[in-house]
Amino acid sequence: MNEVILEAKNVSKSFQKKGHDKFLAVDNISFKLNKAKTLGIVGESGSGKSTLARCIMGLYNDAEGEIIYKDIDILKADKRKLREIRRDIQMVFQDPYSSLNPRKTCKEIIASGIRNLLGERDKKKIDKKVLETMEICGLTKAHMDRYPHEFSGGQRQRISIARALAVDPQIIVADEPTSALDVSIQAQIINLLEQLQDDFGLGIIFISHDLSVVRHISDDLLVMKSGKLIEYGKSEDIFENPKDEYTVRLLDSVPGKTLAEYL
Ligand code: ADP
Ligand code: MG
Repeated sequence: MNEVILEAKNVSKSFQKKGHDKFLAVDNISFKLNKAKTLGIVGESGSGKSTLARCIMGLYNDAEGEIIYKDIDILKADKRKLREIRRDIQMVFQDPYSSLNPRKTCKEIIASGIRNLLGERDKKKIDKKVLETMEICGLTKAHMDRYPHEFSGGQRQRISIARALAVDPQIIVADEPTSALDVSIQAQIINLLEQLQDDFGLGIIFISHDLSVVRHISDDLLVMKSGKLIEYGKSEDIFENPKDEYTVRLLDSVPGKTLAEYL
């Protein structure tokens, strides 16, 4: 049985650009995320995927609709409630180069959430948790005191994932987490996320413009275009029988050499 852990209802977010009419980057989107399952969100560049991710993270104060997590509406939550939620819902970004502080070591990056969000003060306990989490994510003790520039792109994404995992989240929102990586490394990161899902029961929202990436990992799939929901349902149903011409086009644009060979 599926257990819904997060539900978005009619979420919209508009931007006012100078000299332009207000425009809807996210237009009336609804979905459910099930415990220990992955919702893929796919759409061409500019379709509103990252804006929707930021809505889920509670980063806008003027988004409309509801995003319900543990009976709290994220879109209307006050600072204190948002802090609680921030621990449970963690984000992994596309670009591990810009999303990791270059002046902090791997250990410091991963420790900050343990300190700030879990409230842990004991240095030994923090170090232990950092190392445990790093090892789960395929990093080693020797990596602890290194800086982000000393790692490869794939390893940096492992640091980002470890930073997210270290605070014992329920949900990870991964916004194009593999888009900056070579295809063989993409496969490693996807396999890692799936492993973490199995081991910790994580709900994952996996955002990508690339259907071949989303296909492998998604249980459910939401296809977006110009802020709107084009298709939403079980991933395999949509792949087998896409209802919309836009989805067919996204399927057709999947390149010949595939990620599947590496997974
Ligand atoms: P995606 O992640 O699918 O590529 P985004 O959510 O980043 O799409 O962007 C959707 C649309 O919203 C784009 O047209 C983008 O230019 C616009 N947009 C995103 N953030 C802002 C902002 N802070 N101010 C104005 N427009 C924005
Ligand atoms: Mg984006």
